Formats: sequence, C-alpha cells, structure tokens
Amino acid sequence: MKKMKAIYKRVLLKISGEALLGEKSFGIDYQVLDRICQEILEIKKLDLELIIVVGAGNIWRGGEDKNAIIDRVPSDFIGMMGTIMNAVAIQSSLESKGLDSRIASALDVPAVAEPYIRRRVLQHLEKNRVVVCAAGTGNPFFTTDSAAALRALELDCDIVLKATNIDGVYDADPRTNPQAKKYDEVTFDEVLERRLKVMDSTAIAQCRDNNMPIIIFELMKAGNIKKIICGEKIGTKVVI
Ligand code: UDP
Repeated sequence: MKKMKAIYKRVLLKISGEALLGEKSFGIDYQVLDRICQEILEIKKLDLELIIVVGAGNIWRGGEDKNAIIDRVPSDFIGMMGTIMNAVAIQSSLESKGLDSRIASALDVPAVAEPYIRRRVLQHLEKNRVVVCAAGTGNPFFTTDSAAALRALELDCDIVLKATNIDGVYDADPRTNPQAKKYDEVTFDEVLERRLKVMDSTAIAQCRDNNMPIIIFELMKAGNIKKIICGEKIGTKVVI
C-alpha cells in the first residue's frame, strides 16, 4: 500500500467544545475524546507539526445569559477557563497514547499550563510536541475561532482545519433545507457577504486579510483529518 504523505508542514486544528460532547448534553464524552486523540496520534506519524486550539461550548459559552445576571466579561472569562479544562483533558488523553504535548494558555494557570509564549511554542513544535492552545485569545468578546486564526497566523501555520459536526459549508442549513448545496471551495468574501456559517466574522476577516486558508470538515468521520492532511479534497476549503 502506498504510504500517505502530509502536504502541510504545520497545521492548526480547531476543535470546538461541542465536538467533545458526543451524545452528552454537557461535558466530555470520553469515547469521543479518545477517538479524536487516536486520530491525532495517526496524523502525528505523518511527520508534521500540530497546534490544537480548543473551545468550550461543551461547558460554557459567554453572553448566553440574556438577563445579564452574569455580565458578559466575567462570563467570557468562565468560557476561557472552560477551554483550559478541555485542554487538560486532551493533553491527558494524548499522553495516555504516548504523545508528548504542552498546553499554552493565554490566561495564567501555572499549575496546569504554560503561559502562551510564541517562541516557546515554536520550540515545542521543533521537539515534535503537540501544542494545545487554551484560553482563547485571553480577551473577552472574542471566540476560540478568532484564537485559532490568530495562533495560525502568528505561528506561521500552513492551514486552519476547523472540525465541525457537518461535512462542509452549505448555501443553506442542510438540516432544515434538503435543497442546500455544499461548496467544495468558497471565498472569504462570499462567506462574509452571505453570512455562511463557517467561523465567526472576526476570524474569517483575519484569515482573508492574511491569506490563511481554512478547511471546514466533519470531525466524526473516521480518518478525515488524516485524509485532508494528505491532500484529499474533503469538506469545504475557504480561500481568497
Ligand atoms: N472566549 C473569550 N475569548 C476568547 C475565546 C473564548 O471570551 O478569546 C469565551 C467566550 O465566552 C466563548 C467561550 O469562551 O463563548 C467558549 O469559546 P467558544 O464559544 O469559541 O467555544 P467553541 O464554540 O469553539 O466550543
């Protein structure tokens, strides 16, 4: 059998909190976590550098308290801390598979994570460690999608892989509209103009302005990440 080869050298994988939910309504589905980390183990064998940015939608999402009993800013900080919890879970699962990893957090929690320092992350990548970026950008009013765009740019990644629970970007919601058509490729401007559900607009604008391609794909389809990394056309690619 022909050996699969990565077409990217440095990849940023965005895993939303929701991806970790599995069938649960809150928290982490251990089987799902294990499966994701098993796929990460497989792609690390392809000799590439991997940065993961993790969300927290499985635990907390800022701004959902419409009565403002918890204000937006503290609510966002709770969300960012939620991403640290997910990062610790991912690290633990990766380690159980023998993969060396570090958590680089935008908020200081020295007992569980290193502070995010770009040069240090680059050193970890050189040493073949997976780096899990936690706490988003460290600022309220942002999302972990924006953190993914930001980290991909400052760490000079080749691509952002955004894992979702649908198989790409559609011109309408495929769950409610059977006529919805999937894009194989779409431009950043089209995503913004048509308000297509890809990533939040801040992240899209940042990737557009700096020519950072994004591939949106379905995480739960086994082998998808590896196939994409080896150049198979899966999901939807967002380009200039
Ligand atoms: N968050 C934030 N700043 C950031 C990243 C995240 O304030 O830079 C907060 C925000 O409240 C957000 C929550 O953390 O709702 C969880 O992140 P996100 O919604 O991006 O998680 P995902 O949808 O990827 O699971």
